[in-house]
Amino acid sequence: MPHSNQGSKWIRPEKRLAIYCRDQFTCAYCSRNGHRRRIGNADGGAILTLDHLVAEGGNGAVNLVTCCRSCNSSRKDQTTRQWFARLRERGIDTLAVRQRIRRLTSRSLDRYRKMAETLDPCFVAELRQRASNSWKEEHIYG
Ligand SMILES: [Zn+2]
Repeated sequence: MPHSNQGSKWIRPEKRLAIYCRDQFTCAYCSRNGHRRRIGNADGGAILTLDHLVAEGGNGAVNLVTCCRSCNSSRKDQTTRQWFARLRERGIDTLAVRQRIRRLTSRSLDRYRKMAETLDPCFVAELRQRASNSWKEEHIYG
């Protein structure tokens, strides 16, 4: 039975969705989001994954942020310092990114777990389907 303990390879789907809620379904790095395009959302429809802020930092919510698949595959194994330098080259305000991440990861996940329970099941299924195998590539299973 998988547990979402620190250092474990496992994360429960409920916890993933709670983190997506906390982060407003928005990539921590490039701000693309996973909401449907058809509600007039030009940046919507992103494939959402989770990214470890620090590679060996474990699967605690404080070390996980919502990340689009494009950013996740661009970052690969780069440290935060290396990755943020790349983002700056792309014109992204990494100071703002850093502040937003600090603000979001400092919040307790409890209220977002409750919020995740109220998500439209169709939306959740769509997120999952869109992500397809990407959730496995994060090296977090479940
Ligand atoms: Zn992104």
